[in-house]
Parts: sequence; structure tokens; C-alpha cells
Amino acid sequence: MVKKYWHTIGTNNWVFGCKFKNKEYTLFRHSQTEVVRYTKVKGNSSPYDGNTNYWASRMGKHPEMKKSVATLLKKQKGKCNHCGLTFMPGDKIETDHITPIKAGGNNLKDNLQALHSHCHDTKTKRDLKDIKSYKSQKIWDKTLKEINFHFEIIKWEWKDDLPTLVNGTRNRSLFTEEPDEGKLSRPVLKTSRAGDSLA
Ligand SMILES: [Zn+2]
Repeated sequence: MVKKYWHTIGTNNWVFGCKFKNKEYTLFRHSQTEVVRYTKVKGNSSPYDGNTNYWASRMGKHPEMKKSVATLLKKQKGKCNHCGLTFMPGDKIETDHITPIKAGGNNLKDNLQALHSHCHDTKTKRDLKDIKSYKSQKIWDKTLKEINFHFEIIKWEWKDDLPTLVNGTRNRSLFTEEPDEGKLSRPVLKTSRAGDSLA
């Protein structure tokens, strides 16, 4: 029983604490906290009592915490945006891009959130899917641009999950300038109504 709650930390034997989910929580000894003397805050809490996350959430800033993270904590009311749990003292907090940069996200504060380190890992895995679909969307956009360049009017619809041309009118300049497609002969192209040759 003694071993479960009392640990040796550095030269301090008898540090009260417990292990929860592989994290060690320790009760700060009085001697550790009294070293720093600052103006008293109402009640028993002090911004320097080690409860960094709590104070950052309350005040939106904390001397030991990056201003950007503290601001996010205040906005999120001290809770992780991924799991919804309140950040606890000692939790590792990381800043995450809600829409990843690689998926077109920006660096503005509206695209940032504070997450537990382990929640951030989970979210990053999900981000990879978003990044992948963003990339294929970009490739498709580029393809569409190229198609639009070659076609004056383009009408298409989804058929069997593929963008399928319904009734396109081929750009005439393309026909006269590049009539080297073996199957299509120049006279037919010139006289045929646009669109017919596409069938
Ligand atoms: Zn979380």
C-alpha cells in the first residue's frame, strides 16, 4: 500500500501521488510551492500552484504557458476539443490545426485548437485522410481546368463515380490546330456540328 501512493522523486522520499493511465500524479509538497512568493490570489489557488491549465483557462494566460495555448484554453473553457475532457494539471497540451495546412488550412487562430497530446495523435491520423482527399480534389480541379481549356462548353455528370461528359462542345481551335488524331479527319471535323464527333 505504501508503495502505491508514496514515491521517491529525486532526493525526496515520501512524495504523495498515484499512477493513473501510465501518468504519475504527485501532490506537491509544501516546501516545493512555498519557495515562490507572489501576491495572494483569492482562495487557496495561485497561478503558481502548478495548476497551469486551470489558470490558463480562467485567465487566458499563464506565466509558464505560451500565450497562444492559454488563449485557446480560455476559448475552449479548459476542455480538449477532441475528447471533451477538462485538461488536468500536468496534461501535455498541443496546438492543432483544425484544417491541416496540407489540406488547405491556414495559420489563423480560428483554425487552431488545443488538444491533449494523445488526442492530437488520433486527430493527426484522421487528418491524413483529409489531406489525401484534398490532394485528389486538387488534381481533379487541375484536370477540370485543363478540360475547360479544351472545351468551350462542358456539361458533365457523375456516372459510376466518374465525372462523365454529357454533351461537350469541343473547342474549334483545338480541331484546326491539332487535327492529328488518327481517327478524325479534317473535313469531317470542319463540317460536322460541334459535339457530334464526340459520340
Ligand atoms: Zn483530449
